[in-house]
Amino acid sequence: MTVLPTTILDELRAAVQGGVWVPDSPEFDEIHRPWNRAIDQGVLAVVEPADPDDISSLVRCARAKGLSIATQPSGHGATGRASGAILLRTTRLNQIAIDPIQRTATIGSGTKAGDLQAAAAEHGLTGLPGSSPVVTVAGVALGGGLSWFGRSFGWVGEGIRAFDIVDAEGQARRITGDTDPNLFWALRGAGSELVIVTGLEVQLHEAPEVFGGRQLWPVAHAREVAEVFRSLTATAPETLNLWLELLSFPGTEPMVAIDSTYLGSEAEARSLMRATEALPAPLSDTRAPMSVADLGAITAEPTDPTPGSARAKLRTSLDDAALDALLETPIVPLLSVQVRHLGGALARPSDNPHGALREQFSVYMFGLPTTEEVAESITAKQAELAQALPTTGRKPVTFLNPSESLADALPEESLVRLRRLKEERDSTGVFRGNFSNLK
Ligand SMILES: Cc1cc2nc3c(=O)[nH]c(=O)nc-3n(C[C@H](O)[C@H](O)[C@H](O)COP(=O)(O)OP(=O)(O)OC[C@H]3O[C@@H](n4cnc5c(N)ncnc54)[C@H](O)[C@@H]3O)c2cc1C
Repeated sequence: MTVLPTTILDELRAAVQGGVWVPDSPEFDEIHRPWNRAIDQGVLAVVEPADPDDISSLVRCARAKGLSIATQPSGHGATGRASGAILLRTTRLNQIAIDPIQRTATIGSGTKAGDLQAAAAEHGLTGLPGSSPVVTVAGVALGGGLSWFGRSFGWVGEGIRAFDIVDAEGQARRITGDTDPNLFWALRGAGSELVIVTGLEVQLHEAPEVFGGRQLWPVAHAREVAEVFRSLTATAPETLNLWLELLSFPGTEPMVAIDSTYLGSEAEARSLMRATEALPAPLSDTRAPMSVADLGAITAEPTDPTPGSARAKLRTSLDDAALDALLETPIVPLLSVQVRHLGGALARPSDNPHGALREQFSVYMFGLPTTEEVAESITAKQAELAQALPTTGRKPVTFLNPSESLADALPEESLVRLRRLKEERDSTGVFRGNFSNLK
């Protein structure tokens, strides 16, 4: 591992009021590791800025020394590309201020999605949360971001009204669609290596009632459940969000589930999902009126750091051949295969690097690579399923895996525009993202 010369380290420590850790610091081992424990990243140092001024100082210092900075709030999407850089953790930038009149939240860039949801819920409002409460709003929004409510309100990134940033010169400023339309466009879907975001102004939405939860059946009913899921998605209003889950947890029988949220009343949700009542009785049904602060409980994904290996596909349809491919053989060694119904507002024209997401479904194949052998068998299973489910579109940046790049997510014209922006805004390459390939 490359080690920072003492003189540079001293300058770094003098520049930053917050925390600085280097490989011989006792806490370094824990703090430099990403949330995804399957990824190794040999970073030079970890810096936890106390405030945006610290970030300006850090950028000037790194630039003067020819060093790169990889901003990584927690590393759910880590790829190893932070290796050799200074790792910036935004943990202390976690302030939240809700304006219930304007329906906005002004948040620090280290704010976790679940914390924003809890603060918004106190005012009967909601942000656009995905399945995990412990990812950051910035980390998701800068990659476009798919949420529970994307069918109603579009990409998570599109819900950002302003970004407070520090640029490659170390200058702080606020970016909106009026002040810097090009950068604003980029930040709402592919913004991780152009600037460092210190804060965000997030559009909130009214959430008077939410009804949601998980209906769970033995895998023996997978075909019937999947067919009901498919028929429900054909007519679902944009306020009804449905995800099909094939689950295979160690030590339990494989299962199939429909996870759902509905922005509206219990009676309406039950009526819209009446077809599930005709299925065999579920093992459990957790659907209930719920707070938007508790949406993470539906899928109950791990919140503590864990190794993960994921591969995603997009599909325009779930035809019989796709269902056959998904259901023909057990999903082991995968833990889950999640099929999200997309469409609605996500499919409408949008001014961000992804553009309209016309595919109606995403398929997300996830496993726990606890050993190298298990990792290999997970990759092989993902490849087998991927081959049987030919992709019909580019996936969101937040669904890329370490073997992929922005080219797997974005149309060529967006890549061209982003490369030009990178050259204009960070020609020396001081900023690195999970999927840095713009230079
Ligand atoms: C359990 C789980 C559930 C998930 N659910 C969803 C979901 O429902 N919808 C969805 O779209 N995605 C989902 N994801 C993917 C997730 O959005 C990505 O992993 C994303 O990277 C967010 O994670 P993070 O906050 O840890 O950010 P990191 O992975 O640490 O960072 C993400 C990227 O954003 C950049 N970045 C972050 N903050 C800043 C900043 N302040 N300034 C500049 N650049 C920054 C980083 O450089 C990096 O390239 C999920 C992932 C997991 C593991």
